[in-house]
Amino acid sequence: MLPYGHQSISDEDVAAVVAALRGEWLTTGPRVDEFEAAVSRVTGGHDVISCTSGTAALHVAYAALGIGAGDEVVVTPMTFVATASCASMLGAKVVFADIDITTGLIDPRAVDACVSDRTKVVAAVDYAGQAADYDVLNPIVHRAGAVMLDDAAHSIGGTYKGRPVGDLADVTTLSFFPTKNVTTCEGGAVVCQDADVATRAREFHRVGMVRDPQRFRASIPDPWHQEVHEFGLNYRLNDVMCALGQSQLTRLPQFKARRTAIRARYLAGLAGVPGLEVIRQMPDTDPAWHLFPVRILDGRRREVYEALKAVGIASQVNYMPVYWHPAYEDLGYQRGLCPQAEAFSQQELSLPMFPDLTDAEVDRVVEVVVGVLR
Ligand SMILES: *Cc1c(COP(=O)(O)O)cnc(C)c1O
Repeated sequence: MLPYGHQSISDEDVAAVVAALRGEWLTTGPRVDEFEAAVSRVTGGHDVISCTSGTAALHVAYAALGIGAGDEVVVTPMTFVATASCASMLGAKVVFADIDITTGLIDPRAVDACVSDRTKVVAAVDYAGQAADYDVLNPIVHRAGAVMLDDAAHSIGGTYKGRPVGDLADVTTLSFFPTKNVTTCEGGAVVCQDADVATRAREFHRVGMVRDPQRFRASIPDPWHQEVHEFGLNYRLNDVMCALGQSQLTRLPQFKARRTAIRARYLAGLAGVPGLEVIRQMPDTDPAWHLFPVRILDGRRREVYEALKAVGIASQVNYMPVYWHPAYEDLGYQRGLCPQAEAFSQQELSLPMFPDLTDAEVDRVVEVVVGVLR
C-alpha cells in the first residue's frame, strides 16, 4: 500500500540515534538542549521547550497560559482533536470558529465574532502546511486581550510574509509525529515569545520542578534542592529522540523543496479536472506543505477513495470537524455550528504527500483520480 504520509529516515539519522544510544545520557542530556536550539533557529529564535508529542505540546501551552475553568478558548474545528481537547481537559469552554472553505484555515471574521472578554486563547492551525493569516488574526486576538496560539503541527519550515512559522503567534506548538515535516518518532515542542510563559511551560513539562534558585521559596536551599510550585507532568523528550530530531532538521530544506515539487506536479496533473478543487495558496506564503488536500465535489469523494484503495494507494480525510467527536457531542455541541468546516470535511481527501514519494507515484495517483472524475 502506498501510504498518504511517511517518514524519511536516512543513514545519517540512524547513525545519530545510535551515537546517542551509546552516549552517557538516554533521557535529558546535551542533545535535548541542542535540538531545542536547532528548532529555535528555524522558528524565529524564541524559547523552545521540546516534549513528548504535539498533543503534549498543546497541553503544556494551555497550562503555561493558565487556562482553566471559566476561560474560553476559540479553536478551528478543522484540526486534529488535540487542538481543542487539551483546552477542554483543563476545564476551558471551547468555542469553534468556522473556516474558509477554499483554504481550510480559520476565518478571521469568524474569530472576530467568537471572541469575548472571557476569551483567553485563540488557536489557529496552519492547515496542510500554510500559515493562517496572522497579520489579520493577531490584532483581533490581542484587542480581545487574548493570546494567539499557532498549532503548527503541519507547518514547521514554512514562512508567512518572509517570517518563519514560530515567529507568527505568541505561542506555537509543533508535532514531530512520523508523517509530519520532521520526526522524532513521537515528539513535539512549544515555542514561546514570552519568557514567563516559557518558564511555566518548561516547569509544567518536567513535573512542575523549579530549578532556578532565584525562584526558590526555601531561604537557604541545599545544593541539591528543587521544589514544585504548581503541578505538572513528565512530558520530557529524550536524548535519543532529540538526536533524530537534530539530524532530521538538517534535512528540512530538502524535505520542503521536495514537498513543494510534489504539490506542483499534482497541480499540473489535476488542472481542469471537473469536480475537483485544490486548496488555494495564500499570498505571501512559502509553505512547507504537509498535506496535499483536494476537495471532491458532487458527493464523489468515497468513489475516489475506493478507486485509489483498489490499486493500493492510501488517502486520508483531514479532518472530521472536532465537535462531531462524541466527546464534544456529549458536551452539547450540535451539528451545523460551522457550516464551512462541515462542507469542507465532506469533500476533503488528502492524497499521498511525503518527501520520498516519486514522480511516477504522483503520476499514478493523478491517473486514478482523473480516471474517476473525467
Ligand atoms: C499531529 C497533530 C497534532 C498532535 O500531534 P501528535 O504529535 O500526534 O500528538 C495536533 N494538531 C495537529 C493539527 C496535528 O496535525
